[in-house]
Amino acid sequence: MEIYKGTATFPGIAIGRLLIYQRAEYQIRQYLISNVKKELDDFSSARIRVKEQLEALYEQYKGVQESEARTFLNQSKLLNPGSFQRAVESIITSEKVNASYAIMTTRDELTSTFRNLEDPLIRERINNIREISNRLIEVLGGDSVKIDLGKEPVIVAAESILPTEMMEMGKEKLLAIVTYQGSSDSHTAIMAKTMGIPVLVDIEPGEDWDGAQAIVDGYTGTLYVHPDAELKKEYEIRQKEDLKEQEELFALRDEKDETLDGRQVKLYANTGSLDDLNNVLFYGAEGIGLLRSEFQYLGRENYPRENELFLAYKKIAETMGDRPVVIRTADLGADKKADYMDIPDEVNPIMGNRGIRLCLDRRKMFKAQLRAIYRASAYGNLAVMYPMLSSEEELDEIEEIICDVKEGLKQKGIPFKDIMTGIMIETPAAVMISRELASRVDFLSLGTNDLTQYTLAMDRQNPLLRNKYNDHHPAIMRMVQMVVEEGHKENCKVCICGELAADTALTETFLRMGVDALSVVPACILPVRKAIRNVDLS
Ligand code: PEP
Ligand code: MG
Repeated sequence: MEIYKGTATFPGIAIGRLLIYQRAEYQIRQYLISNVKKELDDFSSARIRVKEQLEALYEQYKGVQESEARTFLNQSKLLNPGSFQRAVESIITSEKVNASYAIMTTRDELTSTFRNLEDPLIRERINNIREISNRLIEVLGGDSVKIDLGKEPVIVAAESILPTEMMEMGKEKLLAIVTYQGSSDSHTAIMAKTMGIPVLVDIEPGEDWDGAQAIVDGYTGTLYVHPDAELKKEYEIRQKEDLKEQEELFALRDEKDETLDGRQVKLYANTGSLDDLNNVLFYGAEGIGLLRSEFQYLGRENYPRENELFLAYKKIAETMGDRPVVIRTADLGADKKADYMDIPDEVNPIMGNRGIRLCLDRRKMFKAQLRAIYRASAYGNLAVMYPMLSSEEELDEIEEIICDVKEGLKQKGIPFKDIMTGIMIETPAAVMISRELASRVDFLSLGTNDLTQYTLAMDRQNPLLRNKYNDHHPAIMRMVQMVVEEGHKENCKVCICGELAADTALTETFLRMGVDALSVVPACILPVRKAIRNVDLS
């Protein structure tokens, strides 16, 4: 038996056969051709075919995972007449070589030129070029392009897996995923969480693993290859218990969020895209406490228009009906930016022009979003909240813009509601002036992820600080308590929407502090509901 320790990004137990997945990276032999026109025509037909396949994949998956499915569209756009096509055609014409070889050369040149660049957008583009190149080569060779994991569900082990590859593999075929690269907040890991599949990262697949029996323990981050019979039996029992526990949790889907002594708590879901709506309803959340609206601004080539935003918010409002939906205005900047935004490089972007600061700098973008939110407010129970606020002056500016937006809508006879407004408490400054802020809005929402990093002065993404980053630090707990007290003095509700809200070890502490609502990822709704229902505050 071999034992490997990695990092678990989603819990659960899987027992099954390992399948090593390697992205098809074809090495094509070069040969000289006599008919250049025929080779160019073959390349052109292959481009059209792959484009059709990618568009079909987008159509198939857009309803399930819109933002991930958009990668298929981005890939298909790379097949439009442009630099990739010209590069391949130029090699075919000037070197008189086969199209597959020209594609491979272009792929390898681009990949090696940009290999060391960290920019996530460039990395994504390179991955896309790799994928389309491999698909083109397969089509030219007459092969099938579908990833086939075989008949039985398997534990897939790979150096890395792209979200698009995961979609093609399909949920039914995947028992678990083990990768060397990736992190708990990578798109692939988030997709796996949504699918409810255990994931381990930081484990390098062994060359002789293919077909081996294995156990994935998504609680401890352990992978057992060739487990002995006794361990396998133990895990089979644990897996059954796990399933029983899941069933017990599912029974709580329609139960109230109420402590043993009858205190009502609001339990909401955090969502990062429209695709999560099904999960929000599936797990029985009382509403959406944090809609990270920036998802609509990322992975694209220009700002979303007001109407596109409006239609998305309208759909959310209608789907959720009476349940509240808190739309956080775009929290862009720092690690969330796209090329078209032209955000200048900053020495310290985490402390830089991000969140509400960036929105107030880019009024046109901000106003378009606020108009879209207010227009959609007529169709459900929406609220709006602002990220990264640190002063009352920022709130003055926001209020001025909101007045303008409402006036504009009134003049045009467009219906809207006077929706609730809230502020995210993510900076120590906002904590210290929480009473003043509370007197001006309907609710406060503690973004403990950022609040922790700014309070401890520790970058939340720095792996070197992983062991020192203490989100249970007494300073954080006192800040939560202070915000609740200050908020309540002004009759303002206080929610927690950072990851800490899902930490069931703190559920009782937060409820004793008087926190009114918790907002967590959909998959954590039921465990937190269970924790709330076990608390006795009397
Ligand atoms: C937070 O900072 O706690 C939060 C909820 O916002 P985000 O994680 O999107 O920065
Ligand atoms: Mg934040």
